[in-house]
Amino acid sequence: METVDCAIAGCGPAGAMLGLLLARAGLRVNVYEKHADFLRDFRGDTVHPSTLQVLDELGLAADFAQLPFRRVDSVGMQSHLGEWQFADFSRLPGRYPYIALVPQWDFLKLVTNAARKYAGFQLHLQAEVKGLLIEDQRVVGLKFVKDGTERGVRASLSVAADGRSSIVRQQGGLVPLDLGAPIDVLWFRLPRIDGDPNNVAARLGEGAMLVLIDRGDYWQIAYVIAKDGFEPMRAGDIAELQRQVVKLAPFLAGREQQIRNWDEVHLLRVQLDRLQAWHRPGLLCIGDAAHAMSPVGGVGINLAVQDAVAAANRLAGPLLEHRLDDRDLAAVQRRRELPTRLTQAAQRAVHRKLLEPMLAGAPPVPPLALRMMAASAWGRGLAARMVGLGVRPEHVRSPQIAE
Ligand SMILES: Cc1cc2nc3c(=O)[nH]c(=O)nc-3n(C[C@H](O)[C@H](O)[C@H](O)COP(=O)(O)OP(=O)(O)OC[C@H]3O[C@@H](n4cnc5c(N)ncnc54)[C@H](O)[C@@H]3O)c2cc1C
Repeated sequence: METVDCAIAGCGPAGAMLGLLLARAGLRVNVYEKHADFLRDFRGDTVHPSTLQVLDELGLAADFAQLPFRRVDSVGMQSHLGEWQFADFSRLPGRYPYIALVPQWDFLKLVTNAARKYAGFQLHLQAEVKGLLIEDQRVVGLKFVKDGTERGVRASLSVAADGRSSIVRQQGGLVPLDLGAPIDVLWFRLPRIDGDPNNVAARLGEGAMLVLIDRGDYWQIAYVIAKDGFEPMRAGDIAELQRQVVKLAPFLAGREQQIRNWDEVHLLRVQLDRLQAWHRPGLLCIGDAAHAMSPVGGVGINLAVQDAVAAANRLAGPLLEHRLDDRDLAAVQRRRELPTRLTQAAQRAVHRKLLEPMLAGAPPVPPLALRMMAASAWGRGLAARMVGLGVRPEHVRSPQIAE
C-alpha cells in the first residue's frame, strides 16, 4: 500500500490549496477527487481579497490575472423604497481591493497546476474516498475506489476536505452541530446586455429577493426562498418565477422567458453547521467539511482557503519532522474556530433580521443596523473588510522547496 505524508479527500478550494501548500513544503501529498474534472455549474465563484493576497504570496497573482475574472468593487441593495450600498471594497487596504468572480474550475485548475510542479503532489481524479483506515483508534489513511477497485493509502495525516456532506467526517465519527438556516436558494442565469447595471446587487421586494451577479455576458441569479419551499413551487408554473424576476428587476423584462423550465433552475439547500471537534488522532476536517456556510456574503471559498493556509502553516513543520500529534490538529481548530463562529453569527443575524422578515412580507428595506452602516463611508469600509478579508486573514508561512 502506498504511504504518503498527507492524504486529502476532496479537491475543492480547501483540498486543492492544502495540497499545494504541503507539496510546496516538500511533503508527499495525495489528493483524491471523486469527479473526473472540476466542471460543475453553480458553485461558489467568488475569490475574495484575502484569497487574492494568498495567491500573491504564492507567486500566482500573474497567472490569476490571466483568468477570465470579473471585478466586483461594491455590493448594494435596491427596492422601490430606496437604494443602499453596503460594502465598498475600494476602501480596503492592500493590492486587491475587490472581489474577483471567476469560474471555480479555473481557480481550482490554477491551484492544482501550481501544485503539480512539486514532485510530492499527486491528484487522483475519479477516486472516491469511501472510508478510513483505523488502527488503535488512530486514523492511519484513507480507503478509496478508483477504476472500480477499492484501494488504500497510508498517511501520517488524513484530511477531510470533501465538502458539506463529508463522508470522511462521518466515518471518523465527527458530527456537526446544525445551526439551522431558514432559506434555500434557487440559481439560474439570464443573458446580460449592454446598458444593464453592473456589479452585484440584491433586489428586495415584498416576500421575495433576488441577488444579481454580473458575469459579463450573463447574470448569475440567486432567488431566495423559504426553507423547503422549492417542491411546492416546482409543482406550479415556471411563469410565476418569471413574473417575480421581472417584478424585482424590471430591466430583465423580455428575457425572463429564457428560464424555460424547472430543469434550468438549480436548488441550493442552504446548510449552516459546524463541528465541535474538527479532528481526532490522524484526521483533520477543513472547509465545508468542518463548517458549512450560508451563501450570505459568499464567503465559503474564502474560509475554505484560509483553513488550508492555517493548516499548512501549523502542520507542515511537524509533518516534515515526523512529530505530528493531536495538539497540532487542535491548534488548527483553535486558530480557525473563531473566524468561523463570528462569520456564522453574522450570517445568522442576516437570516434573522433581513431574510426571514423579508420572506414573511415585511416592507423591502434593510434593517436599521445595515442602513446605518450603509450611510457612512466608514461603515461601508467595515462591511467590505468583514466580507472581503474576513476575521483573521491568514498569510502563507509554510516552508517552500524548489519546484
Ligand atoms: C450553488 C452554490 C453556490 C455557492 N456560491 C458561493 C459563492 O458565491 N461564494 C462562496 O465563497 N461560496 C459559495 N458557495 C459555497 C462554496 O462553494 C463552498 O463553501 C466551498 O466550495 C467549500 O470548499 P471546500 O473545498 O471545503 O468544499 P467543496 O467545494 O464542496 O469541495 C469538496 C470536494 O470534494 C469532492 N468530494 C466529495 N466527496 C468526496 C469523496 N467521498 N471522495 C472524493 N472526493 C469527494 C467534491 O467533488 C468536491 O470537489 C456556494 C455553494 C453552492 C453549492
